[in-house]
Amino acid sequence: MKATTFTIEDIPLIKPGDDIGRMIVERAELEEHDIIVISSTIVSKSEDRILSLDKVKVSRRAEAIAKSNDNDPRFVQSVLDQSSEVLIESPFLLVRIKSGSICVNAGIDRSNVSGSRNVLLLPEFPDESAKRVKDTVFKLTGKKVSVIITDTNGRAFRMGQTGAAIGIAGIMPTRDWRGTKDLFGRVLEVKNEAIIDEFAGFANILMGEGNGGTPIVIIRGLDFYQEPCSIKELYRPEEEDMVRRALISRSV
Ligand code: GDP
Ligand code: MN
Ligand code: MN
Repeated sequence: MKATTFTIEDIPLIKPGDDIGRMIVERAELEEHDIIVISSTIVSKSEDRILSLDKVKVSRRAEAIAKSNDNDPRFVQSVLDQSSEVLIESPFLLVRIKSGSICVNAGIDRSNVSGSRNVLLLPEFPDESAKRVKDTVFKLTGKKVSVIITDTNGRAFRMGQTGAAIGIAGIMPTRDWRGTKDLFGRVLEVKNEAIIDEFAGFANILMGEGNGGTPIVIIRGLDFYQEPCSIKELYRPEEEDMVRRALISRSV
């Protein structure tokens, strides 16, 4: 098997209102079922998800958490405002954000954002953001592509951060191996491969975390096109999530 992966060059600093789908089409010759991986940072910028911390009104709760976490109360408040559930309060905030993902600090970024008091929130409806790019590409080229929006996330149990998918369009979120055979004819019972996170992880290597200015990666040669789809398929249902249950029971 063979796949090629490359960054799109000459992407400018993204401003509110910028059309990312059009920017991609203007800079790359896309092929049917290419997988376009896009850093959430630029999606958020294009959707004007910039928040000035100076405008945030701090609650008592945020004040208390900020104190125990040695953090800025306004930053803590902005994390709480994005969240539907707090799983860990201290020494850092682990929350479920309203779109469903569980992540540290609600995925709010301070890096690669202009203005020292500005932070960047994740896209509000990441699947819809991905679909907008997909639809624009189709409108401009007639090509059907897969889109994955990523963020850099830490993981439970393992050191280090990797790219993770937070919104998708036109791609199978997982590849189900159940019912297929291993090398010795044994039928596989559990193996549901989270391919969108695997693509996100690899694409993140090409993006980098710093000033590379390469927020868009194309993966070509692997076809996982599927429609419809949703990132929600990757979020473990609450009743099955034993780690969440353990955390919640500790905090009450
Ligand atoms: P995140 O992982 O989605 O939170 O984003 P990062 O801050 O790690 O940035 C990922 C990549 O996008 C890096 O190569 C950054 O330099 C690049 N990047 C971030 N913002 C912009 C932008 O506005 N324009 C361009 N061209 N690159 C950007
Ligand atoms: Mn981020
Ligand atoms: Mn990153």
